[in-house]
Amino acid sequence: MRIGLFGGSFNPVHKGHMALADTVMKELSLDRVIIIPNGESPYKSSDSYVSAGDRLEMCRLAAEDRPDIEVSGFETGRQGKSYSIFTAEHFRKEYPRDELFWLMGSDMLLYFDKWFRYRDILKLVNIAAVTRTGEDESQLVHTAEALGKYGNIIVVHHQPLVISSTEIRKMIKNNGELSCYLNEKVVQYIKMRKLYI
Ligand code: ATP
Repeated sequence: MRIGLFGGSFNPVHKGHMALADTVMKELSLDRVIIIPNGESPYKSSDSYVSAGDRLEMCRLAAEDRPDIEVSGFETGRQGKSYSIFTAEHFRKEYPRDELFWLMGSDMLLYFDKWFRYRDILKLVNIAAVTRTGEDESQLVHTAEALGKYGNIIVVHHQPLVISSTEIRKMIKNNGELSCYLNEKVVQYIKMRKLYI
């Protein structure tokens, strides 16, 4: 099987995340994508984080009608920072004969060489990266070439939905309309749990 591993804070999960998963799944003929919300991000500040349980649940709701998308509690169930190398090692063991692709947006690939043990990650998984803005694809290709000596980096052409969780958190504070950016079940969950207000 060809399996996509998709890590992030998903705070909250939005349609830009799902569009990335859909594009890579289609373009690289993946059988499924596993969304893996982190416990504690090694790279992002935790001020605006809602609990790992809430972020995991929102991912589950967003993927509920999608048999090709799974949600894993591997990182949220671990103590301490969620370093991707441990996640890559875990899934490599779980799927020893399958082809693994780590999905990410351009912001992540451009800083990938700062990730803890990034060369080891590249020994375990391929990377599939897409643009987040529609304007950074040549920079992305350049970075992919530079990292290419350590592993297989694929730049997948993508029409991005230009949105971020940060923007969505601001919109929630300002009572903005969320339905174009979030799955309706996620909107209802955020309202019910009074998140991000
Ligand atoms: P925040 O605004 O809180 O930093 P985010 O919107 O960047 O969050 P993350 O959960 O940190 O979302 O992202 C998880 C992964 O999804 C990363 O690899 C990121 O590059 C990618 N991603 C997020 N939003 C988009 C988008 N709109 N288009 C393409 N990729 C995206």
